[in-house]
Amino acid sequence: MNPFMKLLFFISISLIFAIPPSQVRAKTRFVTIGTGGLTGVYYPTGGAIAKIVNKKRKELGIRCTVESTDGSVYNVNAVVEGQFDFGIVQSDRQFQAVNGIADWKEKGPQNMLRSVFSIYPESCSLVATVNSGISSIFDLKGKNVNLGNHGSGHLGNAMDLLKSIGLDPEADLNAFYIDPVSAPGLLHDGALDAFFYTVGHPSRALKEATSGQRKVKFIPIDHPGMTDFFAAMPQYSEMVVPKRFYPGAKNRKDVKTFGVCATLVTSVMVEEEVVYAITKSLFENLNAFKELHPAYKTVTREGMLKCLTAPLHKGALKYFKETGLK
Ligand code: GLU
Repeated sequence: MNPFMKLLFFISISLIFAIPPSQVRAKTRFVTIGTGGLTGVYYPTGGAIAKIVNKKRKELGIRCTVESTDGSVYNVNAVVEGQFDFGIVQSDRQFQAVNGIADWKEKGPQNMLRSVFSIYPESCSLVATVNSGISSIFDLKGKNVNLGNHGSGHLGNAMDLLKSIGLDPEADLNAFYIDPVSAPGLLHDGALDAFFYTVGHPSRALKEATSGQRKVKFIPIDHPGMTDFFAAMPQYSEMVVPKRFYPGAKNRKDVKTFGVCATLVTSVMVEEEVVYAITKSLFENLNAFKELHPAYKTVTREGMLKCLTAPLHKGALKYFKETGLK
């Protein structure tokens, strides 16, 4: 082939395979958020984050999907192992994972874990049937009590509380380890006298529990030793179960308890651009986000930087520095 023909051949081949610029689209990055049970608040929260981010999916090249999971402990492990890009976890479990304590005692400190932002408060809620005769946490002795499923964050909260009042879950009560989706039904069937659930409010699970046939009430998590409890576990703070969300509960006012923050975590392995884009989308559309669930009513930009113990992911840090939040 003479040089001219060669050139002609080259040009035509290039034209055939050339893709018009309008059709060039960056590959979509699929991002998964691990949440919790279907009747909790993590699951709709994953959905709310996905909704905000996916609105801009063409511009960001990111598409978020949500998975229902066992809860905080499962999510920390799944994020660290790279099964999910993000997970919603209780701030106390985040603290324990980073420090290699409680559920991470054997595995050691989870150095890959990174925090992104806090979302809303969750309180440790203990709901019991009125006819169980339970009116204080000390009455749990000898009763059928669901402490929570393995992999959840609330199981650890129930355990911590029982320990603080000297109750051994195996020896002193009939402990169950069932998921919060099934617990309300079992309470109304009479299989359970009470169950624990650390969750944002209102939650579907607690609405179901307080609107069934049996009369139920929230039990205050309060006793003279609470000062020591908070001193020993600074990751917990005083909180209430707000009565207004559960009109069927036989309580007259908000019920005292302790609580934590629901936080978003990721892994050091997740790309800076992805974490930056998600953080920016949430912070820039906070009002739209807050409309998506009543649990987000008190969310503020500044508050979203609290309760975080894992080092901030550099994508989130970049956004916080840019906007003067950090
Ligand atoms: N706090 C619970 C947990 O960590 C989940 C609550 C929810 O799904 O809203 O397992």
